[in-house]
Amino acid sequence: MTTIESQLDAVRRRIHAATQAAGRPEDAVTLLAVSKTFAADAVQAAFAAGQTDFGENYIQEAVDKITQLRHLPLVWHCIGPIQSNKTRLVAEHFDWVHTVDRLKIAQRLSEQRPAHLPPLQVCIQVNVDGGATKSGVAPDAALALAQTVASLPHMRLRGLMCIPEPAADFVAACAVFTRARDLFDAFNVAGLALDTLSMGMSADLEAAIASGSTLVRVGSAIFGRRASPD
Ligand SMILES: *Cc1c(COP(=O)(O)O)cnc(C)c1O
Repeated sequence: MTTIESQLDAVRRRIHAATQAAGRPEDAVTLLAVSKTFAADAVQAAFAAGQTDFGENYIQEAVDKITQLRHLPLVWHCIGPIQSNKTRLVAEHFDWVHTVDRLKIAQRLSEQRPAHLPPLQVCIQVNVDGGATKSGVAPDAALALAQTVASLPHMRLRGLMCIPEPAADFVAACAVFTRARDLFDAFNVAGLALDTLSMGMSADLEAAIASGSTLVRVGSAIFGRRASPD
């Protein structure tokens, strides 16, 4: 086995164990491989080991990789912050966007989504732990944003996403993830039909899965340490 193959296998086993421990169905959690800062050959190695969904943070880097790997049936997720001047690239190249936290960005993505592509799959990023400098809509403004995004053409609202600060331990991590889960449940009660709760990374995927995550975004545990701290 290659390193990526065996690390991918180890992550799958962690997901499987956490899903079982939570008493959730075996297929309840999707693995998103976060390939930011790693080259196209790393993505190709993960694809060869059965991985199809990939997450990227830096738009231009991602577009280069997506273009290089166009021959493969990959699903690309934008998980980085989106400036207004990058919405067109995102709308034209990605399948999913997890980081919508402002109506203006959502409107631009919808307007710029090419007509020949399927609707852009969207998650609203929610700032569940109140970090003042972080992206994400405040929880009390999230429902209104989600309802408006759900009404836009060329996009389909799928769920919520959060990136809480690293927690001290499993219990503390669950407490924060549960806030996102509660919003997710409340929005479904409000009629939004969400199916995706994007939360959990290399360090905290067990807590996220215990708290109801349906998609974990895992980078370093699959591809190794990144040169930059992000
Ligand atoms: C980098 C990143 C990840 C992956 O983080 P790891 O700790 O390497 O698993 C997940 N989500 C987002 C939004 C990221 O920026």
